Amino acid sequence: KILQPRWQRVLLKVSGDALAGDRVQNVDQKITLLVAKEVASAMRLGVEVAVVVGGGNFFRGANWVGTSGLDRASADHIGMMATMMNAVILQASFESVGIKARIQTSYTMTQVAEPFSSKKAIRHLEKGRVVIFGGGTGNPYFTTDTAAAIRAAELKAEIILKAANIDGVFDCDSNFLEHVSFRELAMKGLSALDAEAMSHCERHNIPVMLFNISEPGNVVKALTGERVGTLIDQ
Ligand code: UDP
Repeated sequence: KILQPRWQRVLLKVSGDALAGDRVQNVDQKITLLVAKEVASAMRLGVEVAVVVGGGNFFRGANWVGTSGLDRASADHIGMMATMMNAVILQASFESVGIKARIQTSYTMTQVAEPFSSKKAIRHLEKGRVVIFGGGTGNPYFTTDTAAAIRAAELKAEIILKAANIDGVFDCDSNFLEHVSFRELAMKGLSALDAEAMSHCERHNIPVMLFNISEPGNVVKALTGERVGTLIDQ
């Protein structure tokens, strides 16, 4: 039976921690290869995949303020550059399994990536390429979750699939939540995505699914519309 994917275009957010896997080094090649292979399977079914990568496996700006003499804005710029390292690694992984992948950045780094253009990004997706967005939003004080929310709206992606190293959202009594609304999540003070990203998704009616990357099969399930992890919507 040919599976008909539920989504036509998705935004896959890969957080840095998820790429770190068992943490021998900052990036676990088993994870990058797993992501690439599963994205390839979903693409063969016709799903268009845009990726936003985090950088927390290398650097988180907020952790460096004060102790190092770095101010927040400079530290955050290092964090945004860290996302570029993941972007280049992911691009190589995609190409190793035969997927064409382009990187676009929120600030120019033309030797390694194209500058961000939503029109060009959509064109890449339509031609069957993956587009990887590096550099977050380009603004300090923000996160790559927010970058994912903004890019998803610009590209008219139907859902944000957040690949993390946790199974989903748990309530205060440690019960797993299969489905939760943005409002409920905010009211209960549960975290799945940062507050700015969440309000953007709620306002623009973009559902988010949070799931565990390290369970083989999860990425392709999420990409083709099967329920894995926690679904967050209106
Ligand atoms: N960052 C930023 N602006 C952005 C995106 C990221 O300043 O728009 C910086 C920030 O310092 C952050 C780091 O880059 O800590 C890594 O990004 P993030 O924490 O979102 O990565 P993830 O948690 O997904 O690995």
